[in-house]
Amino acid sequence: MVDYLVVGAGLFGSVFAHEAHAAGRRVLVIDRRGHVGGNVYTEETGGIPVHLYGAHIFHTDDEEVWRYVQRFAAFNRFTNAPLARYQDELYHLPFNMNTFHEMWGVTRPEEARAIIDAQRAEITGEPRNLEEQAISLVGRDVFEKLIRGYTEKQWGRRCDQLPAFIIRRLPLRFTFDNRYFNDRFQGVPVGGYTPMIEKMLSGIEVRLNTDYQQVREQIPAAKTVYTGPIDQYFDGRLGALEYRSLSFRTVDLKGVENYQGNAVINYTAADVPYTRIIEHKHFAYDQEDVIKQDHTVVTWEYPMPWQPDCEPYYPLNDRKNTELYQRYRALAAQEKNLIFAGRLGQYQYADMDDTVRAALDLAKEHFSRS
Ligand code: FAD
Ligand code: UDP
Repeated sequence: MVDYLVVGAGLFGSVFAHEAHAAGRRVLVIDRRGHVGGNVYTEETGGIPVHLYGAHIFHTDDEEVWRYVQRFAAFNRFTNAPLARYQDELYHLPFNMNTFHEMWGVTRPEEARAIIDAQRAEITGEPRNLEEQAISLVGRDVFEKLIRGYTEKQWGRRCDQLPAFIIRRLPLRFTFDNRYFNDRFQGVPVGGYTPMIEKMLSGIEVRLNTDYQQVREQIPAAKTVYTGPIDQYFDGRLGALEYRSLSFRTVDLKGVENYQGNAVINYTAADVPYTRIIEHKHFAYDQEDVIKQDHTVVTWEYPMPWQPDCEPYYPLNDRKNTELYQRYRALAAQEKNLIFAGRLGQYQYADMDDTVRAALDLAKEHFSRS
C-alpha cells in the first residue's frame, strides 16, 4: 500500500510526488504515456533539445516558483519574442510599437494611439466576444491580419463566438518592446525539460505505459492525486468534456543550419493550415554546441478538432463545457481520498508556473504540519 498514488508524470504530478517523497511518504507515479514530463517533455535529437509537444517557455512573477524550479535545472535567459507572418508580410509580436510601425509606418506612440482610437470607435459598450474585444484593444487592421485567422484556426470557431478573455492574455504596449511575456523571470532549462523532471522524480517509483483506468483496482493507495482528464475518471458518465487538440509535424532538416532565424514564427493567415513553426535550436540561443549544429529541428503545429483518441491539449472553457465541468466537480467532491489536480484534472488552462504553484500549495496543505 502506498501513501500516495500520483496519476500523471507531468509537471504537476512530478512536483507533488517530489514533495511527498521529500516528506517521507511512500509514493508511486504512473503515466499512460511512455515517458515522463507530460506536455513539457523534451527529447534530444542530434544535440538539440526538441519540445515535442510545442514550444514551452517558462515565465513567472512568482519568486518562490522560480527558485524552486532552479533546484532541478539551470535555466538560460531565453526571452520569447515571436514574429507573425501574414502572407508575405512579417510583424513583431506581441502588439507593440514595432508592430504598429510595420502595419502603418508610424514611429511615435501618439500616432499609433490615434489610429487605434479611430478604428476601435466601431465597438460601443462592453465587448461581448473575442472579435469585439480584439478590435477594441488594437483596432480592425491588426485584428484582420494578426488575430482573426490565427484564432479561428486555433480554436476552430469564429472570433465572434469565442470568449473575450482569450485575447487578453497577450500584452499590448506602446513601446518598442518585443518581449511576449511581462513576467520578471523567464527562461528554458539548459538541456530541455526532461532532465529537470527526471531530477524531480529521482528516487521515486514511476510506472510508464500504465493507464489508471486499467489498473485502478490493483494499486491500493491511501490517497490518489489524479492529473488526468476529470471526465475520463468517471468514464464520461455525464458526457464528454470538449478539448482542442493539436498535431505536431517535426522534421530534422539535415544540412540546414538556420531555417527561420527565430524560435517561434506564427502564421496568422486563415489559408495556411498551421499556426506556428518552431525551430528548436533557437531556445538554446547562447549555446554554441547547439546553435552551430549542421542541422536543425523544426516543428509545424496544426490545430485539430479533438476526438476521444487524441491528446486533449486545450480545455474549451466555454459556457457549455464549464457547466459540465461543474457537474463533474460535484461528483468528484463525493470521492474520498482523491484529489483532482493539474490542467486536465481541473479542466483549465494553466501555464507551467501556475502548475508548479498549485502543486506546491497542495503539498504544503498535506505535509507542512508533519
Ligand atoms: P500534463 O502535462 O498534461 O500531464 C498530465 C499527465 O497525465 C500526462 O503525462 C498524461 O499522459 C497523464 N495521464 C492522463 N490520464 C492518465 C491516465 N488515465 N492514467 C495515467 N496517466 C494519465 N506553459 C508555459 O508556462 N509556457 C509555455 O510556453 C507553454 N506552452 C504550451 C504549449 C502548448 C502547445 C501546450 C498544450 C501547453 C503549453 N503550456 C505552456 C502549458 C503547460 O504544458 C502546462 O502548464 C503543463 O504541462 C501542465 O502540467 P500537468 O501536469 O497539469 O499536465
Ligand atoms: N493570438 C493571435 N495571434 C497570434 C498569437 C495569438 O490571435 O499571433 C491569439 C489567439 O487567440 C490565442 C491567444 O491570442 O489563442 C493567446 O495566445 P497565446 O500565445 O497565449 O496562446 P498559446 O501559446 O497559449 O496557445
